[in-house]
Parts: sequence; structure tokens; C-alpha cells
Amino acid sequence: MEFSTKAIHVGQEADIATGATIVPIYQTSTYTQDGIGKHKGYEYSRTGNPTRTALEKCLASLEEGKYALAFSSGCAATMNVMSLLKSGDHVIASDDLYGGTYRLFQKVLTKFGIKFTFLDMTNTENLLKNILPETKMVWIETPTNPLLKLCDIKAISEICKNKNLILAVDNTFMSPYFQKPLNLGADIVVHSTTKYIGGHSDVVGGAIITSNEDIYKEIKFYQNSIGAVPGPFDCWLTLRGIKTLALRMKEHNKNAMSIAKFLSNHEKILKVNYPGLESHPQHQLAKKQMTGFGGMISFEVKGGIEAGIKVATSTKLFSLAESLGGVESLIGHPATMTHAAIPKEEREKIGLTDGLIRISVGIEDEKDLIEDLSLALDKVNI
Ligand SMILES: *Cc1c(COP(=O)(O)O)cnc(C)c1O
Repeated sequence: MEFSTKAIHVGQEADIATGATIVPIYQTSTYTQDGIGKHKGYEYSRTGNPTRTALEKCLASLEEGKYALAFSSGCAATMNVMSLLKSGDHVIASDDLYGGTYRLFQKVLTKFGIKFTFLDMTNTENLLKNILPETKMVWIETPTNPLLKLCDIKAISEICKNKNLILAVDNTFMSPYFQKPLNLGADIVVHSTTKYIGGHSDVVGGAIITSNEDIYKEIKFYQNSIGAVPGPFDCWLTLRGIKTLALRMKEHNKNAMSIAKFLSNHEKILKVNYPGLESHPQHQLAKKQMTGFGGMISFEVKGGIEAGIKVATSTKLFSLAESLGGVESLIGHPATMTHAAIPKEEREKIGLTDGLIRISVGIEDEKDLIEDLSLALDKVNI
């Protein structure tokens, strides 16, 4: 079965009790049992809920994994993956991770004795040099945020297999439509379903997908033990979003490609970061490990902080907001918003300059989006 068919059908058979074509919102915390120990597979909704089961089956099929587990947020999914570790274990992670992941690693998990090394994972050699006897896991995000650099999933997975390390890939930016890390050798895929998978900026959620039965069983135990599960209505909203994931991703990709080209030719722009552009230093890798380039772009406007703020606050269709992956276009200025906590020198070192703008390209008409950006850029004086 192909992707868009799976998105609409897997886990979503007509309801057995009523024939309802759409998976019902099983808004119940508990289930009446026929007798002691005799039930229909559900006892309590932290442990299991039919709406959640439908979402989990569908997510597993889209990532071409055997198992999926849904959570109340992307951060909750990450925490459940990290629960595989114990005090003294060491993790190697990308150095430009999603801010919330970095915070969870640095401010929460280190308290429990888990150690982290943050590396530039676009250089695979780097990884090999930093593996310690107590290293247990490698955590990557690709493309990275907000600079859209890529990590070679297959090359990293080969090192991990050799060294007996678990490889977890946060696939939020690409969605399973454009990138399937399990097929490239990853052990675990993590999603913030809040973004492209949900797709409508109306629900927060997370997911883990794996084909490793031991990992699945262990994390399923944590899912029930920790209890950061999504409610049935959130699962239903996410499933509804998934039905149009393929259509939306194609449109995000098409619009982003046009906008990236428009920006590349604009006199007030120094640099455009988009893996779909031939000028992207890892364009060949992008073509190899992804089947599209997604809807995220960052670009550097001439004129530093003033120009950056001017552009980010002058658009009318692009909303000034955090998050990404929804049908509506968003714009942000990392230096004063998402990455404001990092000192200027540190930021500049990794290429996160004052003039950098990040956009999440939505599925509005590309002409309107280009006009909106063009008018905002007109307001910059250089
Ligand atoms: C948003 C995001 C997360 C965290 O997900 P939440 O649903 O906000 O908890 C993790 N990774 C990436 C890449 C994200 O964009």
C-alpha cells in the first residue's frame, strides 16, 4: 500500500460496534469488563485507548516501522526514549538540537546522572572520535534547526551498529513523507506530531516509532508507567491531520522551493539555507536520504539585527510565531526569539547571525507568500 492510502486507512477500519466510518473519539478513562480478567483488550486509558491505538498503527505504517507509541507532546516522547538509559550512561547528540530537547537533556536528565556530548554531527568522523565506553545512544535531528544542515543517517547508523549504540532520529522537520530514518538504519524515530503530522496548529503531541521489539516493549512499559499519554480527542485530531499529510507535504515543498529561489535572487539577502537549492552544501546528501526538501527555510538578510527584526515583524500572511509545520506560514527571528538565550558570540560561531530569519512555509498560494515577503523586504533600509 502506498503512503497516502496508508495515511487514510491503516488502523482506521470501520468501528466494530457501530460501523462508524471515522475512528470514534473513545472519550473514556475505563472499560467495563465481562468478568474478572475478561475484557476486549482495554482496561484503563493510560494503558490503552482505541483512538490512540488507531493513531499508533497509522504512524507505524507511515514510518515503515513495526510499532508506534503516541505521547502527549514531542518532549514527552523524547523523555520516554531517554528512559531506556540509566545513571552513568553517555549520549552523543547533535549540537543544534531543538531547544526543548537540549533543555531536557541539559537541565533535567543530567540531574539523573546521564551524560551528554553535543557535537557537529554533519561531520560523521566527529562521532567516531567521541564514543566512550559508556556511550549508549546517539541522538540526531536532520535537517537541523534553524540552519537546515544535514546529518548522514545511513553513515551514522553504520557506526552505531558497529559500536552497539542505539540511534534515535528526530524526524519532525521532514515527516515520514519525505524521510524514513528506520529504512536508513535508525533504531528509533521520534516526532513532535504537533508540527507536520498534525499539520493544523491545533494539537500538541509526540510519537516514537521502532521496529525493534525489545525497544518497543520497554518504551511501552515506560509509556504506561510515566503516563504522558495523549487524550483521545488529541489522537483523533492528529489522525485527521494525517489523512492529508501527503497532500500538504507536496504543497509545502513546492511553495518552499519557489520561495527559496525568490529569496536567493533578492539583492537584500546574503544567504538562503534550503536543502532543495543546488547551492546547499549538502544538496547531494539531501537528494539521497530525502524524497523532498520540506517547508522550512532560513535566510540571512543584509543589515543585521535591525533588518532581521524589520522583516520578521513586517509580513502580513506569515505570522510572527514559534512552531512550524502547520498549513499557515510562520516567520521567526531566532536571535531574539528561539535562540535569544545563547550569547551573541556563541550564536555567531554556529552561523546563527542577527540577520537570520526562519520561515515555516505554509500551503497558501505561493504568489501571495512571495508578495508578502517581498513587501516586508522592501521595508529594510540598507
Ligand atoms: C517542536 C519540536 C519538538 C518538541 O515537540 P513538542 O510537541 O513541542 O513537545 C522536538 N523536536 C523538534 C524538531 C521540534 O520541532
